[in-house]
Amino acid sequence: LNKATRSQTKQHNTRLVLRTMYNNANLSRADIARVTSLTRPTVSSIVEELINRNLVTESRLGPSTGGKRPIILEFSKNSQEIVCLDLSGTGWVGGLLNLRGELLQKTVVPIPGRGPEMLLEEVLHLVRSLLMQATAPVLGIGIASPGLVDSVSGVIAQAVNLGWRDLPLKRLLQERFGLPVYLANDSHLAALAEYHADGHSSSEQNLIAVKLGAGVGAGIVIRGRLFTGDGHNAGEIGHVVVDSDGPLCMCGNYGCLEALVSGRILASRLHEIQAKVGYTGQLAEDGFVLAQQCLQTNYPPLVEQTKQLLDKVAVYLGQTFAQLAGTLNINELILVGTVRALGETFLQQVHKNARRSVLPSLADQLHLRYSSLPESALLGCATLVLAGELGIL
Ligand SMILES: [Zn+2]
Repeated sequence: LNKATRSQTKQHNTRLVLRTMYNNANLSRADIARVTSLTRPTVSSIVEELINRNLVTESRLGPSTGGKRPIILEFSKNSQEIVCLDLSGTGWVGGLLNLRGELLQKTVVPIPGRGPEMLLEEVLHLVRSLLMQATAPVLGIGIASPGLVDSVSGVIAQAVNLGWRDLPLKRLLQERFGLPVYLANDSHLAALAEYHADGHSSSEQNLIAVKLGAGVGAGIVIRGRLFTGDGHNAGEIGHVVVDSDGPLCMCGNYGCLEALVSGRILASRLHEIQAKVGYTGQLAEDGFVLAQQCLQTNYPPLVEQTKQLLDKVAVYLGQTFAQLAGTLNINELILVGTVRALGETFLQQVHKNARRSVLPSLADQLHLRYSSLPESALLGCATLVLAGELGIL
């Protein structure tokens, strides 16, 4: 074997051993050898290396199976941290996650109407401040960006809401911070996170996650893999026109889905309604949380108009799910984002509208739910970094 092949084999085996320990608790070196079909000496030498890298510790002695009690090995989830950013909301979310994707630190940064250069400075600032808060070495940086994102080159081709075009964010961050950087569309990452969180990772299941933030996007997982389409942009449903008589969208078209149902639009419509009905109470900034608060005000004109607005949102969302499910015959549908604040009533409304828009026999199979993850896109970022850097997942 030449040197390059040997080094490739070693990396492959190291990743296999690490993945085995990540997915199974209470393993000894002998167990790992059995599960991976690697030889005992190979496993021992890899485990030695992983212990030196602090990724694995010897935790305790296991039960004897006749001879000496084996040493149980444990994956050290807190040995490194991952810097993750979700740039898709009306407020940006930054987080430090451990190697199990558990959120250790979270920061939310408001981004009220700034230019593209200022927004880029804000990204650098957010990464820098998270790096300073890290309490362990940082494995890498993961970014969830809205819009058209080429996750291979790390270039954001277009993010309408942020005013970015052809922004080589991956390269800029790599140069600035000297760490591996991974970049993908926020809805794609949310879908990946949903898939892994549900314990699907070894199966062949499908799902669609529709993420509602400042914009709207979908992530589609087909047979356990993220479906990205011909140009990385599958699921870019936010700028599909659903009502040609609808309002002007930030992209320049009229009646895009995003111009009718996004958190940003909902917030501005609710502010208009509040002004119209003369309600002056201080309420949330986020459109969906705001909508829920409006419903709870006990101020009848505001409650009534908010209900009417949400009825329309539910129709558009229901039709969107129906079209996705009807095209792909995928039954597991997940709504991601602060839209969860609207609760079961709204979910039932969306479901009802989805059922109205497909054949009854298809509709009966649809399973629509809210995401139960606190920050899907951040978790998706961590997933990307873990897969790329350690071969886990
Ligand atoms: Zn648009």
